[in-house]
This record gives sequence, structure tokens and C-alpha cells, in this order.
Amino acid sequence: FESRFNIPHITDVFEDAVPMPSTFCLRMRSPTEEFADGYPSDEKWHGYINNNDRVLLKVIHYSSPTSAGAECIDPDCTWVEQWVHRAGPREKIYFKPEEVKAAIVTCGGLCPGLNDVIRQIVITLEIYGVKKIVGIPFGYRGFSDKELNEMLLSRKVVQNIHLSGGSLLGVSRGGPTISELVDSMEERGINMLFVLGGNGTHAGANAIHQECRKRRLKVAVVGVPKTIDNDILLMDKTFGFDTAVEEAQRAINSAYIEAHSAYHGIGVVKLMGRSSGYIAMHASLASGQIDICLIPEVPFHLHGPHGVLRHLKYLLETKGSAVVCVAEGAGQNFLQRTNATDASGNIVLGDIGVHIQQETKKYFKEIGIPADVKYIDPTYMIRACRANASDGILCTVLGQNAVHGAFAGYSGITVGICNTHYVYLPIPEVISYPRVVDPNSRMWHRCLTSTGQPDFV
Ligand code: ATP
Ligand code: MG
Repeated sequence: FESRFNIPHITDVFEDAVPMPSTFCLRMRSPTEEFADGYPSDEKWHGYINNNDRVLLKVIHYSSPTSAGAECIDPDCTWVEQWVHRAGPREKIYFKPEEVKAAIVTCGGLCPGLNDVIRQIVITLEIYGVKKIVGIPFGYRGFSDKELNEMLLSRKVVQNIHLSGGSLLGVSRGGPTISELVDSMEERGINMLFVLGGNGTHAGANAIHQECRKRRLKVAVVGVPKTIDNDILLMDKTFGFDTAVEEAQRAINSAYIEAHSAYHGIGVVKLMGRSSGYIAMHASLASGQIDICLIPEVPFHLHGPHGVLRHLKYLLETKGSAVVCVAEGAGQNFLQRTNATDASGNIVLGDIGVHIQQETKKYFKEIGIPADVKYIDPTYMIRACRANASDGILCTVLGQNAVHGAFAGYSGITVGICNTHYVYLPIPEVISYPRVVDPNSRMWHRCLTSTGQPDFV
């Protein structure tokens, strides 16, 4: 089966392959094997992934060829299958470990699990036999800022970093041009670059990959998608998302208790989601305490007979209290547009949470009904959390596969979990636009069933 996605490989440009050292054991040794009593398993080998191994991304059966649209190449076909490259260690590697200088960089905002990924990349590089591993401080900026020194990384340095949130290396937005950045990589002798970040960071990583190819540098650039919003295409989920939903529930629960304990209490919780409402939708579904969930994908009115405020009045009359969950990118049409951008060029959003709080207070004052409105913005508390167990596992596997991908000679790729399997994808495929909640999807309908909210248009 042909993969729909051709991922760039080093042999496209460079011919040489290095045979895998025979001593290399794929199985990660656990400390208990070496230090504690136990019986070593007979199985010393877990095998390699073949470059032609494919994972089925999706099968769609369309009711007619016309509904298949552009996805269907064959006009008579109503089936579409998409296959992607399976991630994992390869028998042939394209870098000699002793010649590798690997660098890790984390860009954009914080997300639970960054340290878990850094840690696993370092550990896996060491297992391959790489001696030179460095961290670039504070995102892409660390490549150009002369005040910032590379951080030497080893298993010893990273051993416990996953026990706290944030990024060991620091993060930033903005930074040098791609050309300056690749100059700096050349000066430093970096030939493997692991880039942890969101869509902006991945656009940068792909540009770095292209620039390295242009200069005929034998460099592998591998991304690990970091987006708490879960807005990367094709992937089941990205790391940090599960943790964010779990933490968001705590904020929702506090808002619920506050609202429930007050006379005519209304809690407003703002959650992450610049263009995608996944966190708000999932946290609403998980908590069961949300009466109104507002996301960027679904337009709504605040005022008027079908507006959010009228529904809040109904909720106070019937239930006595209410909790609203709003994604940060929702309802931007109600806010004063500023053309302000951050250092990376992202538009600075207005605060919809504060706006809803103020409008709610004003509305209830005007109609002469007492209402006790409380606003909770837990976004920075959530971003700084350490990863939960399920994200910890995801980060570990992504970190390992990022290193396997680089050694396998791939560049300009990113790692992810698709249809429950771990895969490599070419960067442009996953960042061409943000993944958003489909307002016609069953999942959004389930969310509406759970909140009981009407249409607000
Ligand atoms: P987050 O999800 O936290 O927003 P992000 O990776 O999208 O993560 P950005 O601040 O948008 O975060 O970008 C991170 C880095 O990538 C910045 O240093 C920025 O300069 C760089 N970058 C953003 N967009 C591009 C682009 N199109 N080409 C090259 N570099 C880019
Ligand atoms: Mg971004």
C-alpha cells in the first residue's frame, strides 16, 4: 500500500547508510533488570520497523462518489484509504552515533509533558550511543542570543525533570531568521535537531529542514507536536491535551461549587482554545457540571431572546445556579479588535471570559434579578502542570520515536499517534490549517446533550 504521504528521507539527497551496530538492543533496559532481584526475560530483541510498514490512518466509505469530493482520486470509487508511515527503530540508520551532535529546542507556550519528551529524547539518544546532546535555551531565540549558552544534556541531567511542569530549556516566541538559525546550527555542528512546539514552531522546523537541504547539510530535523489545544490535523491527540482536560475539570468543579453555594450564583470558566474548542468540549463532557459551553467554531449571541444571557436567566429560575465554560477564541466578534500581535506574529485575543462576566453582571442588574457572578481563568495554571499518566506515556513514546526517526534518516517530519498507532508524517500535512471541532459531529452533539444548552443564534 502506498502511503499518501511521502516523507522526506536523507537518501533523497545523501546516499550513504550506516549499518545498525549489532550491539544495539531495541528493548529499553529497565533499572530493575540491572539493580534489583528479578528474572531477565529470554526475549532480548523486539525487532525493527521496516521503512515500508504502513499504518491505516482512515477508511471512509462514501455514500456516493460525489460526496467523496477531492479526497477520492478515482471518480468511480466510494472508498478512501489513507496509509501513513509507521514510526519506530529501523535496521539501517543514517548517522554514526559518535558523529551526532543533537540539539533539542522548545518553542511557543508551555504545555504539560514538555519535560517528559525532552527526557525521553535524551535517554534514547544515549542508548543509540550519542555523546553530544545539547538543549537550546528559550526557543529559537537561543540560537541567536549570544547571552544564552547551550545546556549540556545527559540522562543524569534529565532523570527527574518530568516530575515538574514547564520546560527545562525555557520557551519563547519570535527569534532569528531561518538563515541565521541554520548558520548557527552549522557553527555549532548540530546535525540532529528535535523541535518541540506548535504550528508556528513546526512551520519553522520545516523551513529549517528546507534550508539544510538547500545547503546540502546532512541534518535531520524532527518535530514533536506540542499543542495543548489539540489542533493538529490527523492525530488522535497531542500531548498535554489529556492533562489539560483533567485540570480544567478542577477549575470547573470550583466554579460549580462557588455558583452552587451562592444565591443565584453564576460561574464563568475560560479555557484554552484559540481556534479549536476541544478542551472546552471535552472538559464539559468530562465534568458534567457545565450548563453552557461556548467554542470558537460555533457562533452565538449573548443578548436577545435566543442569547446566552436569556438562558442564564432561565437557569437561575429553574436550577438556582449555572456554570459557563468558554474557550479563549470564542466570541471574538464581541470584542474590540486590536491589531496587536505577539513576537511570533500571532494575533493577541481579547478576553472573552471577562467580557461575559461583565455583560452578565450588567444584564442581571438591568432586569433587577440578583446574580453572583464569579470568573475563573485557570489557563496558566493548567499550562504549567506536569503531565498526567496518559500524557506521560504519550510523551515517552513520541520522544523515543522522534529519535528513531532522525536516526532512520527522516527529516522535515513530525511524530504522532494516528488511529492508535505511532507514525511519522511530513510537517506540511499536519499544519496546513488548525484542526477544529466539527459543529455537525456526534461529539459536539453529545456535548450539547450533556449541557442541555439550546442554539444561541
Ligand atoms: P503555541 O501552540 O504555543 O502557539 P507555536 O509553535 O505555534 O506554539 P509560536 O509562538 O507561534 O508558537 O511560534 C514558535 C516559534 O516559531 C517562534 O519562535 C516563531 O518565530 C516561529 N515561527 C512561527 N511561525 C513561523 C513560520 N511561519 N516560519 C518560521 N518560523 C515561524
Ligand atoms: Mg501557534
